[in-house]
Amino acid sequence: MSPAYDSNNIFAKILRGEAPCARVCEDDHSLAFMDIMPRAPGHVLVIPKVPARNMLDMPAGALALFMPSVQKIAIAAKVAMGADGLSILQFNESAGGQVVFHLHFHILPRWSGVELRPPGGPIENSETLAAAAAKIAAALGT
Ligand code: 5GP
Repeated sequence: MSPAYDSNNIFAKILRGEAPCARVCEDDHSLAFMDIMPRAPGHVLVIPKVPARNMLDMPAGALALFMPSVQKIAIAAKVAMGADGLSILQFNESAGGQVVFHLHFHILPRWSGVELRPPGGPIENSETLAAAAAKIAAALGT
């Protein structure tokens, strides 16, 4: 059984507007914002609005409502960043590489022959994150 959801995690605070983010878009089921330590230009995180720790405790019905947002933002990120492809990553529990315990999908634009930067890299400046967020939002037509 999964540990209990902790409503003080940083993504829950971002969802409640208690912590800042470079917001891309939001709908009834999801919020998308730029990763503060991007592993690639245009690294976006997509999170559900329901309080799920990860895929293991996400109700299946809520997951079905949420996943179209992941696809929509992935397509927009690829177009906006002029990427050759995308990696979509999602980690579960510490042993699986998870650091923040609110379900999230990493959308990572990729270019042929270019490696991802390692996780936990430097914090990107807020202007760069805001510019990438605006480009991706524009590609969504929002
Ligand atoms: P994971 O839990 O899948 O390993 O990754 C958590 C991700 O959240 C990391 O890529 C990290 O850079 C990102 N992150 C951690 N704290 C913050 C934050 O305060 N704001 C934003 N936008 N991203 C964060």
